Amino acid sequence: MAGSIKEFFQKKEYYEIRLESIGGLGANLCGKMVGELAVKYLNLNSAGFSSYGSEKTGTPVKGYIRLCLPEREIRVHSPIVNPDLLVIFHQALMRDEKTWKGCGAQTQVIIALDYGQEEMMGNLPETIGNCYVVNARQIAMETKSRINVVMLGAMAKVMGFVELESARQICKDSLGKKYPAALESNLKGLEQGFEQVHQLSKAEIAILKSRTGKENSSDMPDGGQEWGYVTAPIGGVNPRFGSTVTADLSPSRQGYVPVFIKERCINCGLCDSTCPDMVFQFAEGEFKGRKMMVNRGLDYYHCKGCMRCVDVCPVNALVRGVEAEHADKQYFLPNQDMLRAPDYYVKTGPDGYITSESYLTEKRIEGGEV
Ligand code: SF4
Ligand code: SF4
Repeated sequence: MAGSIKEFFQKKEYYEIRLESIGGLGANLCGKMVGELAVKYLNLNSAGFSSYGSEKTGTPVKGYIRLCLPEREIRVHSPIVNPDLLVIFHQALMRDEKTWKGCGAQTQVIIALDYGQEEMMGNLPETIGNCYVVNARQIAMETKSRINVVMLGAMAKVMGFVELESARQICKDSLGKKYPAALESNLKGLEQGFEQVHQLSKAEIAILKSRTGKENSSDMPDGGQEWGYVTAPIGGVNPRFGSTVTADLSPSRQGYVPVFIKERCINCGLCDSTCPDMVFQFAEGEFKGRKMMVNRGLDYYHCKGCMRCVDVCPVNALVRGVEAEHADKQYFLPNQDMLRAPDYYVKTGPDGYITSESYLTEKRIEGGEV
């Protein structure tokens, strides 16, 4: 941040932070630690909350933290629409437009970016403020800590008004009692996050973008809500209530995917009733001369790699595969629900696996029309 926190609060009532993460990376705890740190060690007021889906691990998580001077009461408890600091806990979230909503030139962004994933920078909007990256996953593995403490260290550095010692102290307060055995390694992760986070210059960003062929990435999405007074469905009914049909769950995979071996499948449907995320695409068809619902393949956009389907398949028609070795997912199919809603279908992006091309590929493999 340019200038001190006091100067900042002369211009703006709140310093607002939005965390973009997936369940399991510890963003919720990270948000709580930042809030506590502000109150205990910076003499600021703070309020925050997280929002996540019904099934925490693997689903998108957002955290919101507001800070202000102690003489002001925080009476706003809504989600943060125009953050001063955006913290992205997994690079794959960069390709979701919703991640960038409401960000602008005032927004500093910190991205947990793995080596070899620099092409994700092609999704960085043009008008974002300063951009910082840190290889949080590697640091967490090397120090035997968690991604959330690495990101906490990175945040302390980028915010500019948080001393490393204060971040260490809040880590001790929060984790020292609950997980004393893990405290030392988490402190190391925190320090490494603080030291290793670094700013990307505009020139570096331009080079990364040119490598990905996305120099002119899309305009910044506005900060408006998806549904409002004018745009809500008639009656205000959410027709996709409880559905994850628009959620990209691929960031939560740990490098493994279920590989479908169609020839072995007996269409028992156990995988479909086990999968929590509507990944399997059954359609009317024929199996051994009988008309029935036939397993046509998987929609990997929604697969979070939990491997429950692999465990349950009675004939090993689903096996655990290393994701990197199975880039050619020949049987992948567009989600049937998405096909009925072309807008959502398009949103999955070029690196989603459910493209119309994969559908055509499957048709060719089966010898069908293309
Ligand atoms: S559980 Fe296995 S055999 Fe049964 S439908 Fe799924 S993939 Fe096919
Ligand atoms: S691993 Fe299997 S059960 Fe788990 S989300 Fe993916 S398809 Fe569904």
